[in-house]
Amino acid sequence: RVDVLSESQSLALDIGGSLAKIIYFQPDGANRRKEKTDGIPKLCIDYLDPKREGSSLSVRVPELNGTLHFFCFETRNIEDCIKFISEHYRQNGKEKRRVRATGGGSYKYDKLFSEVGVELTKLDEMCCTVAGLTFLLTHFDHEVFSFLYPDGSLPPPGLPESAPALAECRRFVDARPDPFPYLLVHIGSGVSIVKVTGHGQFERVSGSTIGGGTFWGLCRLLTNCKTFDEIIDLTKEGNNERVDMLVGDIYGGDYSKVGLGAGVIASSFGKVTMRKEPPPTFSNLRKAWRRVVCGTFWLWCDFMLNVPILGHFLRRLGLEKHLRSRIANIHFGKIFRAEDVALSLLRMISYNIGQIGYLNAKRYDLPRIYFGGNFIRDHPYTIASISYAVHFWSNGQTQALFLLHDGYLGALGAFLGGES
Ligand code: ADP
Repeated sequence: RVDVLSESQSLALDIGGSLAKIIYFQPDGANRRKEKTDGIPKLCIDYLDPKREGSSLSVRVPELNGTLHFFCFETRNIEDCIKFISEHYRQNGKEKRRVRATGGGSYKYDKLFSEVGVELTKLDEMCCTVAGLTFLLTHFDHEVFSFLYPDGSLPPPGLPESAPALAECRRFVDARPDPFPYLLVHIGSGVSIVKVTGHGQFERVSGSTIGGGTFWGLCRLLTNCKTFDEIIDLTKEGNNERVDMLVGDIYGGDYSKVGLGAGVIASSFGKVTMRKEPPPTFSNLRKAWRRVVCGTFWLWCDFMLNVPILGHFLRRLGLEKHLRSRIANIHFGKIFRAEDVALSLLRMISYNIGQIGYLNAKRYDLPRIYFGGNFIRDHPYTIASISYAVHFWSNGQTQALFLLHDGYLGALGAFLGGES
């Protein structure tokens, strides 16, 4: 059932613990003057997700006679989100504007929105998330995909040195009029696992506290990264084998009797415990001293990147990425690189969620598992790790399914009125 807001241009919100997701609906023919050539309205363009592209950002929906645009703010910067909405949605004099909203933040920040003349119509989070996914499954042909390498193989234990471009590995599945029953594994700050058996019929059957917030929180503790995007970029240069204990580290090769190859992770972060403390020689002392000096220097660089003019200058010189990766490594120096720690964490959490997702699908005999939530956010390593976990634990019987708009299920459901 499609029941959009009555305003000619409308928006809906899903304010979670980490991100405030916005869907902006542009009816066909509206706002042409303000559009950029690629069809995205100017007002959204500054906020678009740099990690996504194409139809992940904007998609025309014939059934709605308009285009949906997707973007988000970090919840820790909720004032920016409120400012954006108050500036763009209170143009009609003093009249209060109503916006459909879901997620815990729609309760927590209700007053702040009200102060700037925006009234939130609160809708249940789980209803909205399921409604959003069911709409995507039944209406969007270019939405659901599984992950396979271009040669048709499934993700091996341990990702290839250089991950293939995600676009080459997506195998899209057409929309299906009757998508039920299915299992949704929603990986936001925490994880919700929901069994859906029909329109509006669902049950939250399980969940986990080990989710996207855990990954991001541990990354902040263990590295000096300031943003999630920095961490994601860092994982692309990581080698988790430097910190994870593999079957091969224990057996010196495969453990063939139970079908475990040498490259399979036996213990996430286990290799950290195998490290011997360096003997107190003069050369080791010199190395430790050098780390302190370098660390102090990179801390100064971190400070300079935050000074407006200086930071701008360093960015113009193209030094930011290099400096950021050095800064991220301050805690670990040359012992454990932030890149390797980040990748190991990403795999640990993705494997864990893939496994509990599969076990729940088996428990309720559900044929399809959809993974959503912004933890995934189009990152090929995350998608490959979850796919691998599902493939591994199901003995190749089940395939993990992903969504182009994985982070916007709740916002889409709110836009549709929270009913599926
Ligand atoms: P919630 O509704 O709990 O905020 P989301 O589905 O929006 O859940 O996912 C939040 C998770 O997405 C974070 O915990 C983090 O792992 C990941 N994430 C992706 N992009 C960002 C970002 N720019 N800032 C913070 N977290 C991000």
